[in-house]
Amino acid sequence: MQLLLKSVDFAARAHRDQRRKGPAKEPYINHPIEVSRLIVECEPDIEIDILCAAVLHDVIEDCGATRDEIAACFNDCVADIVLEVSDDKQLPRDERKAKQIEGAPHLSAGAKLVRLADKVANVGAMLTDTPIGWDEEQILAYVDWAEAVVAPCREVSGGLSDRFDAIARDVRGFHEDQKEKAGG
Ligand code: ZN
Repeated sequence: MQLLLKSVDFAARAHRDQRRKGPAKEPYINHPIEVSRLIVECEPDIEIDILCAAVLHDVIEDCGATRDEIAACFNDCVADIVLEVSDDKQLPRDERKAKQIEGAPHLSAGAKLVRLADKVANVGAMLTDTPIGWDEEQILAYVDWAEAVVAPCREVSGGLSDRFDAIARDVRGFHEDQKEKAGG
């Protein structure tokens, strides 16, 4: 419990100047908290290290934290999972997205859980807080991409896989309707 709250504290400070991309401009920390909540809801017996990694999953990618820093504050297991799910921001966006698909089958079980829950949260945001400036086409392409990343991660959690399928179906239904209305 202490380690988990320490991870929330660490992530809240790291993301303090960051907001989500939607019109609600939610504090960024709401996202990693949601990701860890999704994991524990679907997998109640999950190890604390994986929950900590879920809370910290964007601090390397977005905040410049290092694997060693996380290992020193937490442990190697937490640090390795966070590193596994971190994109290399030096690479162009399309290349990063392709790498997530290629890398997904090779992730550890803990990293697969974080990846899966992250996509449930991000696809869900396409209904509740759609990123500013995204059109229907872009949103539907995002869901297809997320589905491809999630495919090899499904084995780690039937519950999270079901959550993903339900939210992907809702998002597609809503935005395909919107697209038709816009087109017709
Ligand atoms: Zn994330």
